[in-house]
Amino acid sequence: MLEKLEKLSKVLNESYSEKSLNSSLGTFFLKFFGIEDFSINMDNSSSAIYSYPIYKHKKHIGNLEFSKQTEDLTQFLDLAAPFISLKVQNIILSEKMQKNINFHETMKNIAKIIETQYELNYVIPIIGEMLDKFFENNLIYLFLKIESTGNNVLVFPSACNDKYIMQNANREKLQQVSDDKKTLMLPLKSEGKEVGVIAAKSTNEEISAKDIEYLTQLASQIATTINRANVYAEILKHATLDALTGFYNRRQLEERIKQEVSNAKRQKAPLCGIMTDIDFFKSVNDTYGHAVGDLVLKTIAKIIRGQLREYDIAGRYGGEEFSILLPFTKIEEAQMVAERLRKTIEDRSIDISKVNPDSEVKTLNITLSLGIYEMKENDNDEDLLKKADKALYQAKNTGRNKVVIYNE
Ligand code: GH3
Ligand code: MG
Ligand code: MG
Repeated sequence: MLEKLEKLSKVLNESYSEKSLNSSLGTFFLKFFGIEDFSINMDNSSSAIYSYPIYKHKKHIGNLEFSKQTEDLTQFLDLAAPFISLKVQNIILSEKMQKNINFHETMKNIAKIIETQYELNYVIPIIGEMLDKFFENNLIYLFLKIESTGNNVLVFPSACNDKYIMQNANREKLQQVSDDKKTLMLPLKSEGKEVGVIAAKSTNEEISAKDIEYLTQLASQIATTINRANVYAEILKHATLDALTGFYNRRQLEERIKQEVSNAKRQKAPLCGIMTDIDFFKSVNDTYGHAVGDLVLKTIAKIIRGQLREYDIAGRYGGEEFSILLPFTKIEEAQMVAERLRKTIEDRSIDISKVNPDSEVKTLNITLSLGIYEMKENDNDEDLLKKADKALYQAKNTGRNKVVIYNE
């Protein structure tokens, strides 16, 4: 008996998760008591042939379940069960604590996005991925309400095969917990307004009360983010400059293109367009965090501005894509500008230590791909950047960190 207790104590010491405890106790009971099937059951439902209760301060917290009963075993459990119970409590407690830490981390990260980001196209996948990571055993879906139609449209991930979720998202009255208790759907509400729906579908058990609580809090945080983004988008429609880089925003850029194209045509002057896209930028975000991504964007924007003449025009075309218009410039000159820009960025080390003090890597080296095009007589407003973008695409496909001139 003593030998068995010693072995048990070793097994308990070496287990660090519910899973590993279950499996090493399983091996233990097989070896010493010839029991084929063992499990720890923390529900009160039990269908095992032999079930031995475990307690915490006299409160029944679960059962040790066995596929058979022997006298030896019962005697052993009378001594050993309190130790097993303690271990179970410790493990569950520490797993719970870890989950709590992760929860607060997730809330904090979403809050951070609220402060710095306003483009929903960009915010939604980040939030979706964060939630996916947090609710490991659930599939997460995000729907946004489209103002004009009032419909909730799936925005994360790109598809959903679950008919129930798809239908329920647009039902008059949302059913929050499904009949099988495996799907939870909550309205995203901010300042009394519904901005969308979030759905979580469990891939194994029923959704736990704790997960419902977590998701409810996260839903409110997410709704605030979306609401802000909507408000921002409204404001930005009237703004001209991009908040992060100080460049023209997409709308204003399009206005300027029209002006420059018509100027160039009238004066029969050359006009070049450059499209740029940061190389492997997604992995910067994924590895060092979005704050570092933003710093990189700001730095690149600054370098671009520094390389241009005063009357050149720089705009933020999209997330990490900048466009440049070079009036009175022929393609050879534009190529030199682009090449100089590429080289300057390649040579620059960006210090990320202030933005991400935890990172072991202190500086980053970033590269940029560029496509350039000189406008022809018959081109319209859109051709300028469209063709530069085609060249950019080629730069990406042929190795990145290079300048490519558009070729018919
Ligand atoms: P490639 O070399 O092919 O361009 O690779 P990539 O990783 O840059 O590819 P992709 O264009 O798909 O990635 C763009 C990423 O830019 C995705 C998005 O996370 C990020 N991004 C877009 N806007 C912002 C922003 O405002 N801030 C930050 N931090 N990241 C942004
Ligand atoms: Mg891109
Ligand atoms: Mg890119």
